Amino acid sequence: MRAYCRNLAIKGATTAFVPTMGFLHKGHLSLMEKGKTVADKLLVSIFINPAQFGPGEDLDSYPQNIEKDLLLTEKQGADAVFIPRMKDLYPDGYETYINLEKLPGHLCGISRPVFFRGVATIVTKLFNIIRPDIAIFGEKDYQQLIIIKQMVKDLNLGVNIIGSPTVREPDGLAMSSRNAYLAPEQRESALSLFRALKRAEQMVKNGETDTARILKEVTADIQACPHTEIDYIRLCDPHTLENVDRIKAPVRMALAVKVGKARLIDNKMLEP
Ligand code: AMP
Repeated sequence: MRAYCRNLAIKGATTAFVPTMGFLHKGHLSLMEKGKTVADKLLVSIFINPAQFGPGEDLDSYPQNIEKDLLLTEKQGADAVFIPRMKDLYPDGYETYINLEKLPGHLCGISRPVFFRGVATIVTKLFNIIRPDIAIFGEKDYQQLIIIKQMVKDLNLGVNIIGSPTVREPDGLAMSSRNAYLAPEQRESALSLFRALKRAEQMVKNGETDTARILKEVTADIQACPHTEIDYIRLCDPHTLENVDRIKAPVRMALAVKVGKARLIDNKMLEP
């Protein structure tokens, strides 16, 4: 992969890179679509990164379908798909990790304490192999996008990071490989995340500035849905991810809710 990418660079081709954990859906495909418009060559990786899963999380059951993924990436016009072997990325004795000081201390980083360390590490490793000009990440994983932008800046990685909008099912559910975990009777409850974002957006548009009032309303709605367990619902500063109590400028609303076995996340910018 390194030789292939170096050769592209020698030929003067620019590269856009989309890292994924596979089980591809239209959200991933939209990042690839974007990648094709911003560089000469599109590179995709598929790797279920063990370093970003904590104990008791779904590393062993994470959905996979490499054959289908390869058909989709080919159809989408990817020039190469990188599927590294575990022993090449994490050989025995592996011990180097990337940690950010503050950004992982919010939102998902609280209930998933090793997650962003794992993400920052694998993204750096993949960047070091591929050396892309541009990398595309989904806004669906908003904290991840912010963390990667910060890390690239801090470490002078020289990769242009582009965020791409969340792709949703027709009813609003954000597409996710983990939606495969939802049993039919849980699918309805999963819609409560998007409903919460829309409801909060409407309240803010109507002049509500008190975060606590918004949280109270949307929390009650989600709790009233069967199979739901709220991890967090926050309105935060879009850059620092610090909690916002009074809404005076655009805030990012982010939430994580377990619906049955599936831990779902979603987010939206709310503009007063
Ligand atoms: P994953 O395979 O879940 O690690 O995701 C790989 C990339 O796809 C990340 O940059 C995600 O943010 C992005 N992604 C996942 N779901 C969506 C979606 N529904 N819309 C847009 N991007 C997404």
